[in-house]
Amino acid sequence: MTPLLEVEGVDAHHGDLQALFGVSLAVEEGRTVAVIGANGAGKSTLLAVVAGALPATSGTVRFAGADVAGVPGHRRVDEGITLVPEGRRLFPSLSVEENLLVGAFRNRPGPWTLERVYDLFPLLRPLAARAAGTLSGGEQQAVAIGRGLMSNPRLLLLDEVSLGLAPLVVQQLYAALGTIVESGCTVVVVEQDVGQALGVADQVWCLLEGRVSLSGVPADLEAEAVTRAYFGVLADRPGEGSSAQPADVSLAAAAAILPGTAVVDDAVDAGTTADGPVGTVPGVAGASGSAAGADAGQG
Ligand code: ATP
Repeated sequence: MTPLLEVEGVDAHHGDLQALFGVSLAVEEGRTVAVIGANGAGKSTLLAVVAGALPATSGTVRFAGADVAGVPGHRRVDEGITLVPEGRRLFPSLSVEENLLVGAFRNRPGPWTLERVYDLFPLLRPLAARAAGTLSGGEQQAVAIGRGLMSNPRLLLLDEVSLGLAPLVVQQLYAALGTIVESGCTVVVVEQDVGQALGVADQVWCLLEGRVSLSGVPADLEAEAVTRAYFGVLADRPGEGSSAQPADVSLAAAAAILPGTAVVDDAVDAGTTADGPVGTVPGVAGASGSAAGADAGQG
């Protein structure tokens, strides 16, 4: 089966700064895929390239089998690619309902209507006439996701849903994902909150300094492999020796930084990072994941 989204060997730049280096990934229709990685790893850049907000400088993005190079962002919305951007980017002076209706502007047919969005996020119903700028962060995030759904996407790209929100609010927003996927939507979530991402994803891709550092099925990934991929031991980067050393991040620090992680007593591989105990990510156990860019093309 042709994946709904295929990213192949994509480089992307912000001016002189190269943010993506030969990134490849594939997303099957109907799946929930998480892209994780630390600050600046290139997650938002990857979504921007897929959504048509930033051109790839090389490589290919195929959607439903068709190369979308040269297709502008608004046309990609017509095709069914919708980005819910980091920071929400609502129209603060417009009401909740008006913000939602903006999402329906392209008139793409599908199951999502105002009523259905209010059913998904009942907290928005009594706020329909309120200016979006007066809402809490969690309410605004619900509006942003609702606005995205109003475009009836086939592929919904969610950038940093959890950023700056209380854990309970994040949990409520993530609880809506199941309904979104059941509606027929394929979802890519970009997250720094690894525990949250691995909890919902069928497949995870980790970016490190603009490269795919790991991919796999969450249940098959070892916590240590995730931690390494997230913080910076890239095995066998072509032409660069055996590893790119992370900064001076101990795994104890990693455990503290990686949201949803806990510290256990296992010793760590002394050759990788510093001297702390390894962090574990709930829901991640079992066989080793496929680390490093070598398998970047696997779907
Ligand atoms: P974060 O979680 O902090 O958003 P990220 O993984 O989404 O991180 P990107 O935002 O894609 O990472 O950033 C990748 C690299 O590109 C970083 O070095 C960042 O500083 C740079 N970058 C991102 N946006 C721009 C921009 N508009 N102009 C210049 N550089 C940018």
